[in-house]
Amino acid sequence: MQHFPIFIALDGQSVVLAGGGAAALAKLRLLMKTPAEITVFAARPAPEITDWAAEGRLTLITKAPMPGDIKGARLFYAASEDAAEDARTAAIARAEGALVNIVDNLGDSQFLTPAIVDRDPVVVAIGTEGAAPVLARSIKADIEAFLPAALGRLAQIGRAFRRAARALPPGRARRDFWSEYYFDTGPSAQQKGGDQAARAALSQLFERHLSSKTGEGRVDLVGAGPGDPELLTLKARRALDRADVVIHDRLVAPQILELARREAVIIAAGKQGFGPAVAQKDINRMIVEHAGSGAHVVRLKSGDPTVFGRLDEEIEACEAAGITWSVVPGITAASAAVANIGQSLTRRGRNSTVRFLTGHDTAGFADHDWRTLARPGEVAAIYMGKRAARFLQGRLMMHGADPATPVSVIENASRPDQRIFGVTLGDLPRALNSAKADAPAVLLYGLAPRAAQARLETLEQGFA
Ligand code: SAH
Repeated sequence: MQHFPIFIALDGQSVVLAGGGAAALAKLRLLMKTPAEITVFAARPAPEITDWAAEGRLTLITKAPMPGDIKGARLFYAASEDAAEDARTAAIARAEGALVNIVDNLGDSQFLTPAIVDRDPVVVAIGTEGAAPVLARSIKADIEAFLPAALGRLAQIGRAFRRAARALPPGRARRDFWSEYYFDTGPSAQQKGGDQAARAALSQLFERHLSSKTGEGRVDLVGAGPGDPELLTLKARRALDRADVVIHDRLVAPQILELARREAVIIAAGKQGFGPAVAQKDINRMIVEHAGSGAHVVRLKSGDPTVFGRLDEEIEACEAAGITWSVVPGITAASAAVANIGQSLTRRGRNSTVRFLTGHDTAGFADHDWRTLARPGEVAAIYMGKRAARFLQGRLMMHGADPATPVSVIENASRPDQRIFGVTLGDLPRALNSAKADAPAVLLYGLAPRAAQARLETLEQGFA
């Protein structure tokens, strides 16, 4: 980060701009949203600037600035669109103590003007340090679309209420009150009855929070999805926004932990198939202890918490301690994996059941109904299956499975380092070995990656 983003207080401060053309107009439109005292130096100002001066929105001096003219300014914009003239005025401004921006000259500027999304008092500033203005514009468009137009109004109403809200205990009680207002009660009241309704809803909400029991902890058992942050549910994001403590599995992607509230305590409770582990009973104890002391605990599990996640044990620990809990489902690894090989887990006329299997369980390699699985057309998503590959292959073939049955191996599904291998049951252990597949992977038994399958079908047609 070469440039540190800050917001500068401009009430009663002087901002000077030299230039009277298109670049000057663009900057002035932004600056006039602030309470700064704006002075423009321009020998030939655009008509808009003359009008603004007539309306008293800025002071216009119809000449170029000379030494002494920029004294006392906090910011200076060199916007004459003439490099030599900009260098001259920038040197004066620097000597007279202003921070200098030269339009379209990143290298000689002391600060940058970001792309701005304005929902005053909520302001989003987007910068790419000049590397990708197109990107900044498209991010701006996305944020514009994401932030409701009424957000600024809601924040203004909220601001007037901040003092009253101090009657709620600081920390979680107050945060819960505000997030319910901004994300739930506020927008819906505002939509139905405008500002007045939003104000009334805010007061009612406040009364309700004031009289409700606070200080009680809770546990959300949340699915973090397979890794891609865009595959998180909105509920999961909301839970991360509110968490006091996040206890996460080893497989939860760092990009997802980044989304937790900045003040949240993050605890890694990694369980690894064959490696060192935090024992389940210690995890249960940790969850209960934090929630018991009043914290909002998010127990973040990779994929879906109900799939090979030892969810019941954690729920039972919460129940035993009388702690409120809820489950937020997530996208399981198999769903991400099958999406990325372009196949469907079920298919008319091929398979009407799908199994989710684990390659190994607490007792070692896991046994399954091999006879059924060995039938043509069966599909199974096999978790933790890589080390068990030889065992799985042996059992399935012993029960009559065709060695040519397709198997897709999807490593790091949905992550930037995802790898997909289309192999056959007969070749599975050897292929896994030679691919040095050691990242988390799902095996999709009975499914080939669509592209590979299309190639096979063409070959078969060729032979027919
Ligand atoms: N609850 C998780 C599964 C936990 S068990 C879920 O619903 O996805 C851990 C196993 O899940 C790993 O050994 C691996 O088989 C699989 N897994 C988890 N994330 C994965 C990913 N991004 N890509 C492929 N497999 C993954």
